[in-house]
Amino acid sequence: MSNGIYKVPLAVNEPVLNYAPGSAERVELKNALAAGRATIKDIPMYIGGKEIRTDKKKKLSPPHDHQHVLGYYHEGDASHVKQAIEAALAAKSAWASLEWEQRAAIFLKAADLLAGPYRPIINAATMLGQSKNAYQAEIDAACEMIDFLRFNVQYMHEIYNQQPVSSKGVWNRLEQRPWKVSCLPLTPFNFTAIAGNPPSSAAMMGNTIVWKPANSAIYAASVLMEVFMKAGLPAGVINLVFVSGPVAGDVIFKHPDFAGIHFTGSTEVFRSVWGEIGKNIAAYKSYPRIVGETGGKDFIVAHASADVDVVVTALSRGAFEFQGQKCSAASRAYIPASLWPEVKKGMLRDLQSMKMGPTENFENFINAVIDEKAFDKITSYIENAKNSKDVEIIAGGKFDKTKGYFIEPTILLANKPDYLTMCEEIFGPVLSIYVYDDNKFEETLDIVDRTGIYALTGAIIAQDRYVIDAAMKKLVNAAGNFYINDKCTGAVVGQPPFGGARGSGTNDKAGSMINLLRWVSPRTIKETFVPAVDYKYPFLNKD
Ligand code: NAD
Repeated sequence: MSNGIYKVPLAVNEPVLNYAPGSAERVELKNALAAGRATIKDIPMYIGGKEIRTDKKKKLSPPHDHQHVLGYYHEGDASHVKQAIEAALAAKSAWASLEWEQRAAIFLKAADLLAGPYRPIINAATMLGQSKNAYQAEIDAACEMIDFLRFNVQYMHEIYNQQPVSSKGVWNRLEQRPWKVSCLPLTPFNFTAIAGNPPSSAAMMGNTIVWKPANSAIYAASVLMEVFMKAGLPAGVINLVFVSGPVAGDVIFKHPDFAGIHFTGSTEVFRSVWGEIGKNIAAYKSYPRIVGETGGKDFIVAHASADVDVVVTALSRGAFEFQGQKCSAASRAYIPASLWPEVKKGMLRDLQSMKMGPTENFENFINAVIDEKAFDKITSYIENAKNSKDVEIIAGGKFDKTKGYFIEPTILLANKPDYLTMCEEIFGPVLSIYVYDDNKFEETLDIVDRTGIYALTGAIIAQDRYVIDAAMKKLVNAAGNFYINDKCTGAVVGQPPFGGARGSGTNDKAGSMINLLRWVSPRTIKETFVPAVDYKYPFLNKD
């Protein structure tokens, strides 16, 4: 039992390294990439602190070079999910009763390992495994993950510090208990940090975890697991299994001890997961917490008063960085007719200068999309566009999967605002643009608000302050992260936390105190020093 009320180190955002030619970080990263390419990794599951290997080895390859073998992961089945639940339950009591500052120290150490010796390793894993360029890997796998770990420790401390008032003769206290049972993060391919945050944040609050990453992100997830263990995470606190989503779901969603899910992925899968949980609700010992961070159809609206260069840059970066595979990526834009010729010119100039190729060549801004399934889905939208009279392809439109899953950054000009690609999440380097009559700005805001099922991110680009105010009001429910004169991507932990509503999720803002509160169950304690000894109140006395 600690006899001190400890402060925690003040969290500050990890500085982003720039990897410019001649920099030390560039040399280190290139060495890590070469080492990653030269090694064939054997990646086990981790259950109860043990490395688990099976006879089902699955190949891992860079999306930009799908014939190259990075390594193999050991695929599990339902029996491994059951073992992982048992391991999590076995670890529960010791972990939940460990002093909070000991838990904090483990994750602060993990942050320092990622900021130091593991930085080139986690970035190289993300560049090779998920085809992110050096800068995109740095802001995600290194900086965002480090920020999640450090800021979450600070939020945990703030949460524990929030105590009720006490009246005379009474002491009211509040403690934040972890859930008695296991939590399941199902995590996506597109951000190493967004995959690493759900298991580590729920574990930090005292829970034990079964973590199932997306198959296409196992390479980086295994590095994070190595970091957590090196930081001193005890056996069984986070159990990492490699099974398909439905296999994990089938075991976990029927388990009476299932306590909560932090899902990050597509809206369609989340809806089916919620349905499964609903079907089993009577079987659970407690109502599970359901957190979902899901899809988006994120917008940029430019007003006639906008600075054209700001619009062009917001679109070029917002739509095409990481091949548009960010949940926040700009995928629909509304441009006033008066600005369109200049915006178009600027975008064509930008796209012409964007090089596409493997991540190991640092000159490439565009790399490959994650896998063949994604490639086929994204290119089907482009094929449809080629055959539609409602849309014109004004840039890109070519693709090739011979060596890697490469799709040119593509701009579609839709002649109606409800054309398919203006409404559906494509999750690739395809930006749809609708050009509106300058006099119809207000109507356009209404269209933005009611198009599609999502409400994740969006931006207004304008210089006129009345216009900004009008857009903020009309679009109040259209985005959980709203930007003014900026692209609609790039949320930073500790600054604006991230998440959306409507079809985009439960808006439990990853990277904030709001999110950590989902992984605890408060208990209030009231102690009365001199308790009443007679049930009768004075008002009961005769007049
Ligand atoms: P996905 O839905 O295909 O997979 C997410 C996770 O769910 C994976 O681990 C997957 O294996 C698992 N899964 C798949 N089917 C399942 C099932 N039937 N039962 C249980 N689990 C199942 O998503 P993805 O392709 O990995 O990621 C891209 C999606 O994630 C996009 O829609 C994107 O917008 C979204 N995303 C959202 C956020 C956010 O913060 N809102 C962040 C990142 C990604």
